[in-house]
Amino acid sequence: MMQLDKLIAFDKKHIWHPYASATNPMDNLLVKSAKGVFIELENGQKLIDGMSSWWSVIHGYNHPVLNKAMRDQMEQMAHVMFGGLTHKPAIELTKRLLRIVPKGLAHVFYSDSGSVAVEVAMKMALQYWHAQDKGGKNTFVTVKNGYHGDTWHAMSVCDPDTGMHHIFNNKLAIQHFLPAPKTRFEDEFDASEMKEVVAFFEENHRDLAGFILEPIVQGAGGMRFYHPEYLKRVKALCLQYNVLLIVDEIATGFGRSGKLFACEYSGITPDIMCLGKAMTGGYMSFAATLCTENVAKVISNASPGVFMHGPTFMGNPMACAVALESINLLLKSDWKLTVARIEKQLKNQLGPLKKLDAVKDVRVLGAIGVVEMKENVDMKKLQAEFLRQGIWMRPFGKLIYTMPPFIISETELTQLCTGICTTIETVYGQK
Ligand SMILES: *Cc1c(COP(=O)(O)O)cnc(C)c1O
Repeated sequence: MMQLDKLIAFDKKHIWHPYASATNPMDNLLVKSAKGVFIELENGQKLIDGMSSWWSVIHGYNHPVLNKAMRDQMEQMAHVMFGGLTHKPAIELTKRLLRIVPKGLAHVFYSDSGSVAVEVAMKMALQYWHAQDKGGKNTFVTVKNGYHGDTWHAMSVCDPDTGMHHIFNNKLAIQHFLPAPKTRFEDEFDASEMKEVVAFFEENHRDLAGFILEPIVQGAGGMRFYHPEYLKRVKALCLQYNVLLIVDEIATGFGRSGKLFACEYSGITPDIMCLGKAMTGGYMSFAATLCTENVAKVISNASPGVFMHGPTFMGNPMACAVALESINLLLKSDWKLTVARIEKQLKNQLGPLKKLDAVKDVRVLGAIGVVEMKENVDMKKLQAEFLRQGIWMRPFGKLIYTMPPFIISETELTQLCTGICTTIETVYGQK
């Protein structure tokens, strides 16, 4: 025991964790291993993972097929530079991706994380207009409550409040923010919410390089599900006013929303699309920015004739190999039925929380369950109780949310939902 305490103390003293203080951090749990839906701590406790390690571990941890894909690739080569060289894992993955993404996307640019994929997407859009001598089209519009990553330009299109823009106030590029899409996923579309969007396009299209947003599911910026018709109309406006549509599928991609890609709900193809998180089943940090033939041609046919980006670990073979196997596993499984089953169970088992005074809203889409509280939560207090319930959750702001691995069994999901309900009832002193 002493030994473990020492390790945790060292971690606390020297290792910076996400969105954390270096000098007064919260406790971090020491993880020993993980298998299936379980995270095992060094002290022997096993927790059901309600977070899929931030949307990514869709097939569960330590999956034999994915382990093998990594091992086999490692024996061939763990890495090789992508400038001037290529390899089968990248080619096979790209073939696979192009068969499943919305029709019309034809070129894939690989990078190492979601935020970088967003930077690449924005850079592509700017270079697209530069190539046509329309360098004036250099700002982006997005919607409130969005999240697109923590790097510099990605941050400029994150929600100004939840993205903590105030700290960086005039240092970030100034982008345009429209109100968050209003009509809920399941309600009848209220077309009046487009008035402001249309007026905005009319007035600003000459300055706009692109409209960037998360399709249907707004993730870390608010966990909201909006109406597919909104995205459909944004696509139409982008066409009409000559603005590129960038869809950030980093959280939603690979089945999470109930569709393989959330833009399928709107039946649209974006000009540029970002993928990440679940692409490797949570095995490696890896992302992709895809674009249409048109975007690729325009950029490549004008001076300088190349796209000016190239990460050192671009197209890493291990990441490509495990991504290919993860996608194959998903497609071979009955993922649609699985996600529908998880959705139904989340609705049934989290729905009753709506009755509590402290709860503002409970919403579920696909394998995503959200309990929105009326006030900001006490993360420390909640996490201590989640731990007692044997589940791993990571709430933020007013949001207690779960997106479990797709392989979670009915019994395990019941355990997870019961743990969430009991925790909320205990912490908020209500039945
Ligand atoms: C997580 C996320 C990102 C950033 O991805 P990282 O891999 O953390 O850099 C961008 N956009 C969305 C929608 C995300 O959920």
